Amino acid sequence: MGGDATLPQESTPAKGSGDGCVFCKIVSGAAPAYKVYEDETTLCFLDIHPYTKGHCLVIPKRHVTWWHEMTEEETASVFKTARMCARKMVKAFGCDFVFLYARGRRIPHTHIFLIPTHKDDVLDRFFHALEKFQESPSELARLKDANDMVQAMEILRETPGE
Ligand SMILES: [Zn+2]
Repeated sequence: MGGDATLPQESTPAKGSGDGCVFCKIVSGAAPAYKVYEDETTLCFLDIHPYTKGHCLVIPKRHVTWWHEMTEEETASVFKTARMCARKMVKAFGCDFVFLYARGRRIPHTHIFLIPTHKDDVLDRFFHALEKFQESPSELARLKDANDMVQAMEILRETPGE
């Protein structure tokens, strides 16, 4: 999947570092962005490679690689901003709903994708295909075995989340 802002290979920052990070540059004002919303801890701006009109990214202002590494306060702020900007999208573009997912792989600074989605658009069809794939192969079907499900549940329950 594409969609991240493009970061030149030579300036890719080391994991955990904000040095050279294009999103940190946007936060500091050193790089331009089509800013949609900003508050003390979060920023929402247009993805420069949009899947659809109004496709945005929401980021914490602090350099954090993965969304699950954010503090509780950052998590709350980022999702509050995401929710507010998604509501803007529904009003502005009349989309059915706003698709949301989190990345950090291409640009190692947590970013939440917010993509206005309409029935049968590219993203809608892509995820329909993915859902078909998820439901059909026998390897995946085996995961639905009741014993495996109970085992997975117990492992997750017993693993600390902090
Ligand atoms: Zn950064």
